[in-house]
Amino acid sequence: MIPKDNNRHAVWEERWHPLREEWVIIAAHRQDRPWSGEIVEREEKPLPNYVEDCYLCPGNARISGEINPQYKGVFVFDNDHPCVGMNAPVDLEPTPGVYRNRPAHGIARVVCYSPRHDLSLARLDSSEIENLLGAWQAEYRDLSNRDEINHVLIFENKGDVVGVSNPHPHCQIYATNFVFKTIETEAEVSRRYLDASGRPIFQDIISAEQRDGRRIICENETAIAFVPYFARYAYEVYVAPKATRPSLASLGDLEVRDLALILKETLIKFDNLWRMPFPYVMPLHQAPTDGGDYRGFHFHIEFHPPLRKPNLLKYLAGPEIGGGNFLSDTSPEDKAAELRAQSTVHYKDHG
Ligand SMILES: [Zn+2]
Ligand SMILES: [Zn+2]
Repeated sequence: MIPKDNNRHAVWEERWHPLREEWVIIAAHRQDRPWSGEIVEREEKPLPNYVEDCYLCPGNARISGEINPQYKGVFVFDNDHPCVGMNAPVDLEPTPGVYRNRPAHGIARVVCYSPRHDLSLARLDSSEIENLLGAWQAEYRDLSNRDEINHVLIFENKGDVVGVSNPHPHCQIYATNFVFKTIETEAEVSRRYLDASGRPIFQDIISAEQRDGRRIICENETAIAFVPYFARYAYEVYVAPKATRPSLASLGDLEVRDLALILKETLIKFDNLWRMPFPYVMPLHQAPTDGGDYRGFHFHIEFHPPLRKPNLLKYLAGPEIGGGNFLSDTSPEDKAAELRAQSTVHYKDHG
């Protein structure tokens, strides 16, 4: 039951996710119920800055037999085990009736952030993050110019709990012949909202967050980070330029610099929260590259952290997997306050 004082720790309501067009159930009133779910191991061993058998470290051999160069900054290569490739089989089994198939054409790449095995995005200098953003811009431009590519998904999976066993800081790019479902939804919603109101929907989201203020993590002149009102994960954060740009590639130099600073501050606060490398799935949501009109699409970076507490995984279960809508046990206002309160100096750099 909701306590009579109706304090903000006891949010119990449904919130509309305007970009996905779906309801999120916020049931923060039951956050302290007994829990006997999975306990995540959080022992942290210091990492060496070079590992002989790491396939991402400079000078090492990859599974394909290729040798990584002695790279100094960002290093991009074609994935040796691509899920989509231009050489995917075209001679497919015919599918009668209701079923359809087609070749898994596309390009999959890996982007190493740094030659240092022991660093993470949070611990790169903001100038190094700026360089990385520049590399992502170049990849988006290169891949989006190809006729067969309709969308470029850049994403980082970070941490054992999201299935990444190699801590060497890196992300992946899936450039595909189709547009990923979430992007398709966001693009359609953005187009409709712009047609109906004359404004990009994300501008109204940023205005609503600035008017309320409780969920903003940090901002500067041209970039902002916030826990959205409709967050599906406890520590979900959106990082975005304030101006509507369909992709990272359309940001100017000053905007890239500002975005790098806000990204770094957000990542440091994540790690400082529990003094551990904070796991997440981080996709860049950029407009499709299929030649459509995406003026209303507002590029943003989303963080989907799987942990609710230092050792507790958010399970996707009946409501999420079974029904397709999220049930959150925490209030976005409380979680944003926790993040905002963190130091802007990384705990590992305190000496
Ligand atoms: Zn490595
Ligand atoms: Zn998005």
